[in-house]
Amino acid sequence: MQKDQLFTRRRLLLAGAGAAVVGAAGTAGVLMPGAGTEAAGPAPPAAGGLAAGRPLEPAAYRLRPLTGYGSPRSVPRRTRVRSAPLLRVSGRGRTMVLTFDDGPDPRYTPDILDTLAAYDVRAMFFVCGEMASYHKSLLARMSDEGHVVGNHTWSHPLLTTLSRSGIRSEMERTSDVIEDGYGERPQWFRAPYGAWNRAAFRLGAELGMEPLAWTVDTLDWTRPGTRAIVDRVKDGAAPGVVVLSHDAGGERSQSVRALREYLPGLLDSGYRVTVPRRPYT
Ligand SMILES: [Zn+2]
Repeated sequence: MQKDQLFTRRRLLLAGAGAAVVGAAGTAGVLMPGAGTEAAGPAPPAAGGLAAGRPLEPAAYRLRPLTGYGSPRSVPRRTRVRSAPLLRVSGRGRTMVLTFDDGPDPRYTPDILDTLAAYDVRAMFFVCGEMASYHKSLLARMSDEGHVVGNHTWSHPLLTTLSRSGIRSEMERTSDVIEDGYGERPQWFRAPYGAWNRAAFRLGAELGMEPLAWTVDTLDWTRPGTRAIVDRVKDGAAPGVVVLSHDAGGERSQSVRALREYLPGLLDSGYRVTVPRRPYT
């Protein structure tokens, strides 16, 4: 059963390979070292925890009560409502997270996936539901290759201009499409333009998603040249950094080429490029 396989693989990924996220009471995209460190949460379950029990469809799994089968850690808890997005990750050693927004776009996303696969690296893709609805096979590939897909709204609006029901619709429809193409609902959310408000935080939490912003903005969407993008990543590289780039939303060949250059550079410098695990705090 493919869904079970995906789910098991992803459980292993989340349990074994991820980094914890760190929040800060600041503005999206602003690095505030040392502020608001987020606890990593309880230890992840043993990798065999799920396999040892009965296999469950993801949907059924989410409906498990807090008491009963397996360890409490294996049941997603209610997501707390934050007042600021998470800006960086914590982890052992030099951990970094690469994120790609606004896709998927068949002109650029496959190239980015090829590069990540060549270096056996996992990344995050904050997809827009509208794009994802046209390119579900790319979501399936992201799942197969161990990447994390987050919710970046349906049509990339400025959420602060929308009603609460408008925000809900943007988020909910996107989570539905992601579940369909990726195999499970997203656990991460990123507001377009980094423009968050209380309703976005509350609705995101209601949908089980943590808000993730970024530490280093490559400004790749301005098409500053491949070299400039590479330099921004290299100059911004530091333990815990979350990098923002784009695999869609315009002409992104510079972003594609830059990744081919800075990714081996980061790995040569000793960085572990990975995806965050949910803290379940
Ligand atoms: Zn965006």
